[in-house]
Amino acid sequence: MTTSPAATPGPTNPPERRLRSVVGDATAKKLATLGLETIDDLLRHYPRRYVSLGEMTDLASLQVGQYATVMARVVEAVNKRFGPGGRKTRTEVTLTDGNARLTLTFFSQPWRQAQLTPGTVGLFAGEVGQFNGRLQLTHPLYEPLEGPDALEGRIARGIIPIYRASAKIPSLAIERSVETVLPVADVEDPLPEDVRADRGLPSADVAFEMIHRPRSDQQWRTARDRFRFEEAFVLQTVFAQRRHAALGQTAVPRPRRSGGLRDAFEHQLPFTLTDGQRAVVAEIEADLAREHPMHRLLQGEVGSGKTVVALLAMLQVVDDGAQAVLLAPTEVLAAQHHRGITAMLGALAEGGMLGGAAEGTRVRLLTGSMGAKARKEALLDAASGAAGIVVGTHAVLQETVQLAELGLLVVDEQHRFGVEQRAVLVDRYDTKPHVLVMTATPIPRTIAMTVFGDLETSTLSELPGGRQPIQTTVVPAAERPDWLARAWDRVREEVADGRQAYVVVSRIGGSETEPGEKGAGEKADPDGPPTRSLVDLHEELAAGPLAGLRLGILHGRQHPEEKDATMTAFARGEIDVLVATTVVEVGVDVPNATVMVVVDAERFGVSQLHQLRGRVGRGGHAGLCLLVTSAEDGSPSRERLDAVASTSDGFALSRLDAEQRREGDVLGAAQSGVRSSLRLLSVVKDEQVIADAREAATAFVEGDPQLASAPDLRAAVERLEQSQQADYLERT
Ligand code: ADP
Ligand code: MG
Repeated sequence: MTTSPAATPGPTNPPERRLRSVVGDATAKKLATLGLETIDDLLRHYPRRYVSLGEMTDLASLQVGQYATVMARVVEAVNKRFGPGGRKTRTEVTLTDGNARLTLTFFSQPWRQAQLTPGTVGLFAGEVGQFNGRLQLTHPLYEPLEGPDALEGRIARGIIPIYRASAKIPSLAIERSVETVLPVADVEDPLPEDVRADRGLPSADVAFEMIHRPRSDQQWRTARDRFRFEEAFVLQTVFAQRRHAALGQTAVPRPRRSGGLRDAFEHQLPFTLTDGQRAVVAEIEADLAREHPMHRLLQGEVGSGKTVVALLAMLQVVDDGAQAVLLAPTEVLAAQHHRGITAMLGALAEGGMLGGAAEGTRVRLLTGSMGAKARKEALLDAASGAAGIVVGTHAVLQETVQLAELGLLVVDEQHRFGVEQRAVLVDRYDTKPHVLVMTATPIPRTIAMTVFGDLETSTLSELPGGRQPIQTTVVPAAERPDWLARAWDRVREEVADGRQAYVVVSRIGGSETEPGEKGAGEKADPDGPPTRSLVDLHEELAAGPLAGLRLGILHGRQHPEEKDATMTAFARGEIDVLVATTVVEVGVDVPNATVMVVVDAERFGVSQLHQLRGRVGRGGHAGLCLLVTSAEDGSPSRERLDAVASTSDGFALSRLDAEQRREGDVLGAAQSGVRSSLRLLSVVKDEQVIADAREAATAFVEGDPQLASAPDLRAAVERLEQSQQADYLERT
């Protein structure tokens, strides 16, 4: 799938840096099975752990299941025949440490007998198993300590590095390749000398030696710290350069004009802005007035009122005679934004129409699935400038939509878009538009710095006043069937009160998963308990607990028009209960919805559940979220659900979420270039390192924006940019 950045051919990766030239074709081929193509790849294939020769495992203390590396002496080796006609061989080797014994078993490798003659001392590594009551290693890695095949110097050092290996190439063989490469490698050092010296970090060549051939535990620890910092520093240099480049770009300043649409809209707002909203609005107002493009990330809880903030920014730009584009990740959301904004603006959105406000503008929707006529009208209004605001999906990005004058690009729910997708739209214009990115997924600070490192960040941390907190309860369906019955009763009660409900399921039906939906299908575990499909559950509910209510269905495989019709009907109150997949996750806003029942809740991620429940309690009524699960009390799944139920702090939950997922999942598929450049750095755990690296990189780039004084850093940055570019091309 993804190759490491260093493997990308290009000026920074000349052929002489390929492994083949040093270790030979055969070994190079084997190393390639681990994705190791260049000298750099191999040197950065850091040991996973180390074993000490001095503390050789006492054979009597071995535990079944343990991965052990032992030094021991061969007592005897015998070949045994078995199988039909005695055609198969099993070599049994007995080892001793002077006291206890251990058996090694090799199948179909009769030559081992000659290799492991009695008296041979060697290193044997493998997982300890048990056979006929005796401990044994099956097909262990073997490395002689004496004789012509022994690795020089290891005994003196006393510490053996253990590498991530494969059946094709064991750790001990990787160690040998490293031994060959290290002395001849002309290593680059991306860390500028001052940056390194300030922190007392060793140079790259010294650190490679310390991490691969440590003479003490302290050495490999020091080396790891250095490379961890280096990873953060290179990444932050990329961001620092982008921020610096943005300062060099010019944008048309869009200062606030009084007496325009923005003022008129503020006057007609039915509520007062929260202090948080006011502060962010002021930041954006100032950004827009500058001659450099704004690059700002606005994060805030679901329902924290980001849309109003964005709308004020859009109107400021429209007042200046330019246009604003709002991009949403799905058609449902684009349509909803279009409806919402049109409604909020009222007469102000009827520019040029009979009865519209004189100073009004038009809000146009532009999506991939629109009819030809509506589309043509929208395109015309976009091109003429009659539409001050164009709302669309990313399909708008892909096409040649002409805009009279793009002043501001607002991207909603950024995590579904890559940095490069943003760039594609922006780069089409000679004068750069201002860019505002919004996300409702609270992103822990370090991840924001890693993924959105080129953006300034604003946060809306309070919910608008009068918002009722959402009560969340875990419903253990298997243990308490009566609670599940009660859950459906609650739905009926809310509907009887004139409210509406969501029922969320993890999959659509049959073997189908939600197209392009994260989370929904991916956690499907063939061994896990069966999950309820949308189709089945809808039938069950209609015939049983929710009989007589008006049920609707919403999922990603429906035709966009059908989805939109369903959403509109739900928004109008013509559907009581919407049975849906996670398409309701992002941004869907029906204030009259007060209950959400999430079925098979353990199938969803922590942040996803938090997002989902933000769909209810958006009007003046209290919200209730019921997490139905068959996960057992005390199980990790159940603990996650309990955590969601116990707090409404989205930041705390997203942190928990990040800690529980693998590093790569945290960064997301769109970030595989970054991901593969981070071998030691954890974006979740290494907050301090990332913050320090960010400061150092910013300072360095300020002093030397082109990295002229640091050619190795420049090369590393180029490689990372290339791999990010490759990620983007792969996705389009
Ligand atoms: P977000 O996009 O951050 O999830 P929205 O902007 O959709 O949140 O706001 C959620 C709801 O709260 C909307 O109905 C909006 O009109 C309302 N709202 C926004 N700001 C305020 C405020 N200051 N006071 C009261 N209601 C507000
Ligand atoms: Mg929103």
